[in-house]
Amino acid sequence: MSNYIPVIGLEIHSELLTKSKVFCTCSAEFGGDRNSRCCPVCTGLPGTLPVINQTAVEYAVKAGYALNCSINKFSVFDRKNYFYPDLPKAYQISQLNLPLCINGSVPIEYEENGEKKTKNIRINRIHLEEDAGKLVHDDLNGVSLADYNRCGIPLIEIVTEPDISSAEEARSLVEKIALLLQYAGVSDCKMEQGSIRCDVNVSIMRPEDKEFGTRAEIKNLNSLKSIYRTIEYEIKRQSRLLDRGERVVQETRRYDDNKGETKTMRSKEDAHDYKYFPDPDILQVNFTDEDLERIKNSLPEMPYERLDKYVNKYGLSEVDAKIIVNTKKISDLYEAALEVYNNPKSVANFILGELMRRINLGEISLDNLPFTPAELGRLVEMSDTEKISKNDAKKVFRIMSEQGGDPEKIAAAEGMLISNDSGKAAEMIDEVLANNAKAVEQYKSGDVKVFGFLMGQCTKALKGVATPKVIKEELEKKLNS
Ligand code: ADP
Ligand code: MG
Ligand code: ZN
Repeated sequence: MSNYIPVIGLEIHSELLTKSKVFCTCSAEFGGDRNSRCCPVCTGLPGTLPVINQTAVEYAVKAGYALNCSINKFSVFDRKNYFYPDLPKAYQISQLNLPLCINGSVPIEYEENGEKKTKNIRINRIHLEEDAGKLVHDDLNGVSLADYNRCGIPLIEIVTEPDISSAEEARSLVEKIALLLQYAGVSDCKMEQGSIRCDVNVSIMRPEDKEFGTRAEIKNLNSLKSIYRTIEYEIKRQSRLLDRGERVVQETRRYDDNKGETKTMRSKEDAHDYKYFPDPDILQVNFTDEDLERIKNSLPEMPYERLDKYVNKYGLSEVDAKIIVNTKKISDLYEAALEVYNNPKSVANFILGELMRRINLGEISLDNLPFTPAELGRLVEMSDTEKISKNDAKKVFRIMSEQGGDPEKIAAAEGMLISNDSGKAAEMIDEVLANNAKAVEQYKSGDVKVFGFLMGQCTKALKGVATPKVIKEELEKKLNS
């Protein structure tokens, strides 16, 4: 196969976390009985008037700031007309010429031939639109049922410039955008629930070509794996066509996950086939500088800010800091645990070690941890201040992971608490030595091997009174005096 340069652009649809839909007051929550979350507005009955959800607009603008966009102070909603049974109004309210956000950029990091690389992907636009309903095909009875619960769920569509050159870059970009939207608090970007979906545009060109090749658009991918595999497949398919002297036709394709292939869905319709026109029912958006300033300032701490803090203020290694930052729930847990016990390195080590291990083993899930961040913080503190041994801290954590609970109470119930009473420890060691006079004599006459035996006796006797480290120091002092 000859060498072609892949050119890729993504259209990412992400569901916004508003309580209600974008043009009516129906619940936007995931699920629900069929057609239980719809009303005359979102099912497009005649005579109804949509009213725009202000929170949805603000979330879209926040997403814009998170992806380094400029915000249009003046923005318009349009009707995108098409006929399909999942769209009872026969048009989708979307934005064509004046979207809320334009000209953004997202830095990505990816690996190429084992080498770490970085690159900026330009964002062409982000607009606000509504989702369509869902058709449920009942093959047994040969009918299709329409569920309109999703009609009017607010979505943002993020359109990138064709700056992406590989499946790896595309995956990295989607992951990065999902992370930024999660931190911004505007979308949970759960791929499994379809709250982030992606259309992939792929073309290839020869190094000497002045213009991009003809693209294929693959619709509605809902996992990182399918995005990756689709792009790899398309590059191969198009390369084979060009190698044989054939042409790539512009079309919309569908990805078949079972076969790992893409298939023709329909040849590409032009944008004007949709007969876009401004929606006369929806107020145009006019932002003042103050509005935008307020929305911008409401953006919470972003992942790059946390990364900088973890490395430069907390002294974590970049690798460790990235592991924590790249999963928002872990980073939030870390931040909250530090509120109770402000030892960033130690808490990070515990999270990266014990917590990650149990998550990776599938014993606990970040979606419903059986303990609070404060309890985790207190456990690390107890271990650091030697209220329990390092080993017992792991045991307490196992119990917390299985059934939850307060680390102090668990440690007490298990008899793991160490009082660290040095006066009492010295007294008790004297007692142990008195009871083992023969071994002491052996030690003093040069048989240092018995130290281990004496240490063992002391550790047993002083359980809960002093740490092994303190016992060892004290014992050495006494034997060598
Ligand atoms: P449409 O609305 O018809 O899908 P757009 O112009 O909005 O078309 O482009 C959609 C996406 O296709 C964008 O992400 C853009 O970067 C990408 N794109 C445009 N031209 C090409 C091309 N030749 N090869 C690959 N991707 C492309
Ligand atoms: Mg498109
Ligand atoms: Zn409704």
